[in-house]
Amino acid sequence: MRRPILLVISAPSGAGKTTVARRLAEDYGFVHVVTATTRPPRPHERDGVDYLFTDEATFRRWIEEGNLFEWAEIYGNLYGIPKENLYRPLREGRNVVLTVDVNGKRALERVFADSDEVEFRTIFLVPPSLEVLRERLMRRGDPPDVVERRLKKAAKEMEYASEYQHVVINDDLNRAVDEIARILGLRR
Ligand code: ADP
Repeated sequence: MRRPILLVISAPSGAGKTTVARRLAEDYGFVHVVTATTRPPRPHERDGVDYLFTDEATFRRWIEEGNLFEWAEIYGNLYGIPKENLYRPLREGRNVVLTVDVNGKRALERVFADSDEVEFRTIFLVPPSLEVLRERLMRRGDPPDVVERRLKKAAKEMEYASEYQHVVINDDLNRAVDEIARILGLRR
C-alpha cells in the first residue's frame, strides 16, 4: 500500500493556498489540517476551514499538555498545529495537506522529510503576477492598507520558493490543481 502523502503548501497571502487545499480535499480526498490560532478571524475567514480559532487560555493549555506539533508566537498571536489533527488521518492512511508558512514547513520537514511512514511533499504556490495578487486580495475584501502590506511581504516571501520541491503558478485554478495532482502522481 502506498504511504499517505503529507503535502505542505506555502504561498504569499492571497495566492490561493486555502482555495487549492479545499479543492484537493473535495476532488482528491485530502484532509486539510488547519492551523490553530489565537488571533481573531478576518471577515472572510471561517472557523475550521481557514484556521481553528481559539482563545489564549485554551492554546496555552494545549502547549502544556503537549497537544501541539509545533507552535509559534507571531506579533503576539499564537499559531500551532494540533498533533492529533495531523496524526489521526495519517494513521488512517489518508493524504493530508497543510497550508503553513515557511517556518511551519521547516518544522514539518525536520520530522517528516526522511520518514518511512509518509511521503513528504512540498509545493510553493505563486500568483501569476503581483498585479493579479493585488486584484485577488482586493476582491477577497482585504482593506487597502492590508493589501499594500501583503504585497510588500509577498515579494519577500517569494524568496523562499527555492527551498520547496515544486513551484506551481496559480493562474487558472483548475489548471493549477491538475498540475499538483500530476506532481503527486494522482493523475496522468
Ligand atoms: P491564501 O489562502 O493563499 O491567502 P485564498 O485561497 O484565500 O489565498 O485566495 C485568495 C483569493 O483569490 C480568494 O478570493 C480566492 O477565491 C481567489 N483565488 C484563488 N485561486 C484563484 C485562481 N486560480 N484564480 C482566480 N482567483 C483565485
